[in-house]
Amino acid sequence: MTTIRAIRGMNDILPEESVAWQYLESAIAAVLDSYGYGEIRLPIVEQTALFRRSIGEVTDIVEKEMYSFDDRNGESLTLRPEGTAGCVRAAIQNSLLGVPQRLWYSGPMFRYERPQKGRQRQFHQVGAEAFGIATPDIDAELILLSARLWRLLGVADHVQLQINSIGSSGARQAYRTALVDYLTGHREALDEDSQRRLQSNPLRILDSKHPGTREILADAPVLTDYLDAESRADFARLGELLQAASVPYVVNPQLVRGLDYYNKTVFEWVTDKLGAQGTICAGGRYDGLVEQLGGKPTPGVGFALGKERLVLLLEALAVAPPVPAAADIYVVNAGTAAEVAAVAALETLRDALPALRIVQHTGGGSFRSQLKKADKSGARWALIWGEDEVASGTVTVKSLREQGPQESMVVADLPNYLAQHSAP
Ligand code: ATP
Ligand code: MG
Repeated sequence: MTTIRAIRGMNDILPEESVAWQYLESAIAAVLDSYGYGEIRLPIVEQTALFRRSIGEVTDIVEKEMYSFDDRNGESLTLRPEGTAGCVRAAIQNSLLGVPQRLWYSGPMFRYERPQKGRQRQFHQVGAEAFGIATPDIDAELILLSARLWRLLGVADHVQLQINSIGSSGARQAYRTALVDYLTGHREALDEDSQRRLQSNPLRILDSKHPGTREILADAPVLTDYLDAESRADFARLGELLQAASVPYVVNPQLVRGLDYYNKTVFEWVTDKLGAQGTICAGGRYDGLVEQLGGKPTPGVGFALGKERLVLLLEALAVAPPVPAAADIYVVNAGTAAEVAAVAALETLRDALPALRIVQHTGGGSFRSQLKKADKSGARWALIWGEDEVASGTVTVKSLREQGPQESMVVADLPNYLAQHSAP
């Protein structure tokens, strides 16, 4: 019989990997909480129309990356490819938008892409979104919050902040015309994807990684020259605020982002430690999106960070916490009477010292083989119950790290003894 394997691009995260994920997740939750962001938990499946209307019909995601299917009622549903659309949908539906809102979410996203390092079909994002604030102080807040996270995680020296303003939709339209004019003159030198985008989504060409296309782009008109006055002023203000907070940045006039809903400020945090998949966090303003999805006009801004890429970065920089041994204590209990004595004592011990990781040997076996397992476990102590211990109501504590005598004690003294000796 053939064995069933996971779907391509959808990975298991094993216990030894989870350590880095948990480290990352607790740092993220702490930072977001400290800036007053509240966690919102959103469904993984939404109506397909939600993504078509928000991300945009002629984006890579909607054109070719969504996992869509008809449910049993014939309604088209989609595994979410990103979180902002669902978050906006939820904020409208639950009437959250009468006052400024700071929200965050975390979870799996799905895109049918070519799997490679830092690019999966099921990947995981944390997103933060702020609603109801039109001024660039909130753009700065989101960036400062992410910068704090990089410092906390120990990756700050290896990430670079790139910012740009893509202006109002009017400004983008004027620029679009100029860009198409220029690129049409160099059509033959563009890669195939970019030629196709010349009609459908020309701004996205700025994002192309194709060397020939990049060469042509070097002399292309620059979006910055087409910006409306308000976008210009807000962008300048953002720069001032970032400087005031000592967060370095580079202005990248070709940064446009691949989703249709963005306007004004966009930004990315990039690293050169992960090869081609170097963007670990990306976001921007989306002032029209709430209205576009049926809510009252409400400005919005947010970012999403890719957890896989951050975990890879923690690994590359060797700043992930070490994987701890499977147990602090391995319990040797040979014989049925010893098992009974141990199980009762261990529940009391767990009540007293809940932080200790205690693994009781299960499945029987000789005293010798159990002790071998204790040695292999990486635990700091073995607790031993044998015939003698059972007869005398005692337990033997054997240090597995330091050479030294074994200590025997009455079971009632065990929690105290371990509490005193468990300081690192
Ligand atoms: P990229 O240019 O790398 O494809 P993107 O512009 O499609 O990224 P966003 O949709 O803005 O990315 O998502 C925000 C972040 O989520 C990215 O910066 C990245 O860290 C992560 N991300 C996006 N797609 C994937 C994926 N397929 N696998 C892993 N992480 C991803
Ligand atoms: Mg992408």
